[in-house]
Amino acid sequence: MDDVATGEPLIVLDSVNKWFGPLHVLDDVSLSVGRGEVVVVIGPSGSGKSTLCRTINRLEPINSGTITFDGQELPAEGKALAKLRSEVGMVFQSFNLFAHKTILENVTLGPVKVRREKPAAARERGLALLDRVGIANQAGKFPAQLSGGQQQRAAIARALAMQPKAMLFDEPTSALDPEMVGEVLDVMTSLARDGMTMVVVTHEMGFARHAANRVIFMADGKLVEDAAPAEFFANPRSERAKDFLSKIL
Ligand code: ADP
Ligand code: MG
Repeated sequence: MDDVATGEPLIVLDSVNKWFGPLHVLDDVSLSVGRGEVVVVIGPSGSGKSTLCRTINRLEPINSGTITFDGQELPAEGKALAKLRSEVGMVFQSFNLFAHKTILENVTLGPVKVRREKPAAARERGLALLDRVGIANQAGKFPAQLSGGQQQRAAIARALAMQPKAMLFDEPTSALDPEMVGEVLDVMTSLARDGMTMVVVTHEMGFARHAANRVIFMADGKLVEDAAPAEFFANPRSERAKDFLSKIL
């Protein structure tokens, strides 16, 4: 059955507030992401997009409100937190691969150490994942020997190796040379088509139009708009969104 059709939420933020000192960086943010849904988050620099991603993974504590993942309120610490964190894959702007490990080792490390998979099984699955992102032939190389686009695809494979229930992407193509953006977006689009639940911070409006179920526009820590992509791009309601779109489109 199509999970999106059931509307069953996987990630739910309810009145989340976060301050950095005097700065109200998440201002009463409520958001529900359904299973299999792809939500693109856009907004000006400093609007709180990265913080939103990091709070979903509890890399950042929140001051008030609740975050629920797969029906469970996110614990603040301990084993339960580690488990929840392993269920949410995260891909950052910088590829964050282990420089002194091969691409395949980067992908198998988490499954073997955290998920206690047998090395041979992890290897086999890792190679299949590298094949899925189109870099199986790079498995024995070190990160520095790969292009930026290949490294970011390796980072996606590494996150997928943990068999996450959701994937968070924070500007995954912003650090790439322009000619490599497409190959990473293609991998993300294919993941979306396969039904992965995704929250994607990006300035790639083509991806937002074609792969997202919803677009969320943030400004000053507030969730200002939440709409279907076609509706958002054709008819942004707020002045902030109109102004933002006029600058990037
Ligand atoms: P975005 O990803 O939309 O550019 P961020 O979530 O990175 O925005 O940041 C939102 C605001 O919070 C910015 O004003 C930023 O300077 C501030 N900020 C982010 N991280 C920290 C931190 N660790 N300490 C203090 N301020 C921070
Ligand atoms: Mg950011």
